[in-house]
Amino acid sequence: MYEHDVIVVGAGGAGLRAAIAAQEEGADVAIVSKLHPVRSHTGAAEGGINAALREGDSWEDHAYDTMKGSDYLGDAPAIETLAQTSPEEVIQLEHWGMAFSREEDGRVSQRPFGGLSFPRTTYAGAETGHQLLHTMYEQLVKRGIEVYDEWHVLDLAVSDEDAPEDRTCHGVVGYDIQSGNVEGFRARDGVILATGGLGQVYDHTTNAVSNTGDGVAMAYRAGAPIEDMEFIQFHPTTLPSTGVLISEGVRGEGGILYNAEGERFMFEYGYASNDGELASRDVVSRAELNEVNAGRGIEDEYVHLDMRHLGEERIIDRLENILHLAEDFEGVDALEEPMPVKPGQHYAMGGIETDENGETCISGLYAAGECACASVHGSNRLGGNALPELIVFGARAGYHAAGRDLGEAEITTGKRGEWEAGDVETPVDPGAVEPDVEADASGDAVADGSGLDPAGFVERATERATERIESLLTNEDGRNHAEIRADVQQSMTDNVNVFREEDALKQALRDIREAREAYQDVGVADQSRTFNTDLLQTIETRNIIDLAEAITLGALVREEFRGAHWRKEYQERDDENWLKHTLLSWNDGSPELWFKPVILEGEEKRYEPKIRSY
Ligand SMILES: Cc1cc2nc3c(=O)[nH]c(=O)nc-3n(C[C@H](O)[C@H](O)[C@H](O)COP(=O)(O)OP(=O)(O)OC[C@H]3O[C@@H](n4cnc5c(N)ncnc54)[C@H](O)[C@@H]3O)c2cc1C
Repeated sequence: MYEHDVIVVGAGGAGLRAAIAAQEEGADVAIVSKLHPVRSHTGAAEGGINAALREGDSWEDHAYDTMKGSDYLGDAPAIETLAQTSPEEVIQLEHWGMAFSREEDGRVSQRPFGGLSFPRTTYAGAETGHQLLHTMYEQLVKRGIEVYDEWHVLDLAVSDEDAPEDRTCHGVVGYDIQSGNVEGFRARDGVILATGGLGQVYDHTTNAVSNTGDGVAMAYRAGAPIEDMEFIQFHPTTLPSTGVLISEGVRGEGGILYNAEGERFMFEYGYASNDGELASRDVVSRAELNEVNAGRGIEDEYVHLDMRHLGEERIIDRLENILHLAEDFEGVDALEEPMPVKPGQHYAMGGIETDENGETCISGLYAAGECACASVHGSNRLGGNALPELIVFGARAGYHAAGRDLGEAEITTGKRGEWEAGDVETPVDPGAVEPDVEADASGDAVADGSGLDPAGFVERATERATERIESLLTNEDGRNHAEIRADVQQSMTDNVNVFREEDALKQALRDIREAREAYQDVGVADQSRTFNTDLLQTIETRNIIDLAEAITLGALVREEFRGAHWRKEYQERDDENWLKHTLLSWNDGSPELWFKPVILEGEEKRYEPKIRSY
């Protein structure tokens, strides 16, 4: 068993920042990651990082734009923490040597982004995430922080008191991808989950194949609530054949969207009469699909994004990467022709419920980055607000886990007596197919943890994970994960997409149930111990199934239209009944649903919900 003060799971922007912070605080910290740090998906981020750095801008404006973008479902303490702290975190990156794009006078450049009232998005060409990841990786190496890379974390080692709020996380179990060994990692002070997005729940996504929502699924099954899972961001400019992202930076620099008639539809049809292409992402994605549905799409599928008028010099200077993506993935020379684009899954606004210090309701368990929900983004994230979230909340989680006093959090976590219970009518039972067997992945119903010391919990979790791997490998002729995964992804894309309606959501739940049943007999044909991707993808597929179900349950229960969540039957935002977060926790093998109110009280003012127009 390995042992450290703080274990960070994941080496993307959030994980690296968390590890650096914990080390600064004096902790013996290690990162465990299924990918090498610089292969993490943060490296794909193109457009930029929002921070109120310039004269004329302010953290208050950043906070207001974020709250408005969230459609008033973000929590003010988290949003204000983000807006107040992102300038110092960006300056810190600059001091660590991040190669930001600059103006003639040497100042860091900032560009407009959707939903922002000021051009506040700092960037490094169209490779901001790549630069950010490499800058922080340098710090990691300089500080000698230990990284267990190519270790796939399978589970959390959590004690098994009845209420999740009474449990403690003592570590994790990892599978060494190179050797096939399973080992425990004991965390003396805390585990920080920074496992990124869950885009692989859908079949058309900007996310990498590694983004299977592992951390969210692990925390969920260990009893930590997951919050606002129904809010999935569909980015309006992805390449139709692959889902590869064309950055919002293109529209930020002045790129224009046209329909098949050559009309600038954002203005022509009044989707966003003031901001046009720079309305927030949910608005632009719906507009594009409306155009396609009205017969004004190209090949009945997509619209055009044109940047030719920006001129070669500016494009090469600020968006060169986009030229390569359009050429390599769509065969389009974007200097000469417009690019085909359509909405694709991009980001999960929801995730593991945390407070503004990154803590979950399970003692010693933290989450930061895209896998967490503090909640900054509410029902719709503004472009350029995820990267600051990684560094602001990654750092806070790292400091806090290592013992720094950050003051008492205003956001509460866990189930409290006063929270409203939720109920949703489903066509099939959600949750495990055999609850007694699958009651929880980190502590099954029959096990008794009394008398175990912290290392004992890690050993117990390691034994269970080893048994599970053996049983998957023994069932050589079982069902292949790929078919099951593809069915779920297709159903989610067909039924739980930009436009949602009750019948389709119920169909998705039926499909997910079928996938769960098929998964009962899943097996792994590849028996090798080294780089067994068949085995790992089989394990990830279960996470995909659990999260697909959580997203769909949230989408079915939320009977209103807010931010990225459009419902055919409910065409209005309903502040009277729905100014609340959706929480789900895996209880005895089935999801339990409840709601908690949104916090709109900021430090100095209340963010009064208004009609959101751009
Ligand atoms: C194409 C694209 C462009 C984007 N552009 C922008 C932008 O310009 N601005 C912006 O603000 N946001 C942008 N976003 C969003 C933002 O980049 C992501 O939300 C963010 O980078 C996620 O960072 P993270 O640290 O949470 O996760 P990631 O960077 O995805 O890292 C996750 C880490 O967890 C590890 N991991 C996962 N599961 C396991 C496991 N089971 N065991 C061990 N390790 C595990 C992985 O190895 C990886 O190291 C973009 C997103 C995409 C997809």
